[in-house]
Amino acid sequence: MSEFEIPLSRPDITCLEERLVLEALRSGRLSIGPMQEDLENLVAKRAQAQHGVAVSSGTAGLHLALLALGIGPGDEVITTPFSFIASANCIRYVGATPVFVDICPRSLNLDPARIDAAVTERTKAILAVEAFSQPMHMDACAAAAARHEIPLIEDCCEALGTRHHRRPCGSFGRVGIFAFYANKQITTCEGGMIVTDDERLAARCRSLRNQGRAPGASSTGQHGGGAWLGHERIGYNYRMSELHAALGVAQMQRLDELIELRSTVAQWYITRLMGHSELILPTVDPATDMSWFVFVVRLKPGYTRLERDRIIAGMRNHEVGCADYFQCIHLQPAYADMGLKPGSFPIAESVSERTIALPFHPRLTEREIDLVAQTLELMISRESLTRE
Ligand SMILES: *Cc1c(COP(=O)(O)O)cnc(C)c1O
Repeated sequence: MSEFEIPLSRPDITCLEERLVLEALRSGRLSIGPMQEDLENLVAKRAQAQHGVAVSSGTAGLHLALLALGIGPGDEVITTPFSFIASANCIRYVGATPVFVDICPRSLNLDPARIDAAVTERTKAILAVEAFSQPMHMDACAAAAARHEIPLIEDCCEALGTRHHRRPCGSFGRVGIFAFYANKQITTCEGGMIVTDDERLAARCRSLRNQGRAPGASSTGQHGGGAWLGHERIGYNYRMSELHAALGVAQMQRLDELIELRSTVAQWYITRLMGHSELILPTVDPATDMSWFVFVVRLKPGYTRLERDRIIAGMRNHEVGCADYFQCIHLQPAYADMGLKPGSFPIAESVSERTIALPFHPRLTEREIDLVAQTLELMISRESLTRE
């Protein structure tokens, strides 16, 4: 993660995190303990949800949410092609078919106006993603799901702490999934959280993450016994350890501070790059309180993937960590069997060819932002010279 002088991303760990992790380590309780419960309560509260179920990754959370909703072979789930691949993979894990619809070029999220046309009698859910923590259209996706009497699954893995019209991400769907990988707003190294108001759904997720044991079996975890060896369904080991949960608890206690720092960095970028004629900056809706996940800009229409990739390579040569967020899921080699050709989702494809993720973490300084911006400007002008 830190191969560049200005890395793309970096976790923010203080002595509070060190103290809580050490406390958990010394407690003798290493799995299914009080830290997990604290983290579940903290994250659920933040998402205004009744229940939180901690899991070993965001991907595991997505998998369990689909299983708990009873989605399986023969079912279709409407989703976005412009996302991290896990949001579509979870649909394939359960044997269902992702039905991609194109995105809105302003929000970069699934365009709710395209949902109705994609619904068939096999559609069992809508899985919408807050790409780059942008919550725009989530309410419309929830309305579309209600209209078709199917659940909205909210992949809010990138959106912890963001609010839209004062409503927190994680509260738009029947179920929401957060992720705590090292580059997210808060990290547990690896980890995730399912949030929902649906008590039965939460209970099913608790069982599924713990080898299909009855939810009550958790409390006897370290001592063995009847409930521990009883398995009601085929489950998984998707549990989160107490050390990871302790890290998460400390990070949650600092969430507002981290959001604030990220917001300052984003504002520096916006101020610095706003006037650039070749760049489109992220949409900031006045109704949104953004908890920034990444800072992704894109080149104006007309730039090719090759030109964008040369700009990224140039930045990297100058020790600035950059990336091409995201490649369209339907064009990934892993999805070749679906037979979706380039041109299937023109907006997502066109956006995807022109995006550049800039270095983004809470400790970036204004000087570093200025350096990144200068380098970016230099690389863009070098491209326009080779064009003429
Ligand atoms: C990070 C992320 C996930 C899940 O990530 P894990 O690495 O499994 O925790 C899922 N969907 C999106 C959109 C993400 O950004």
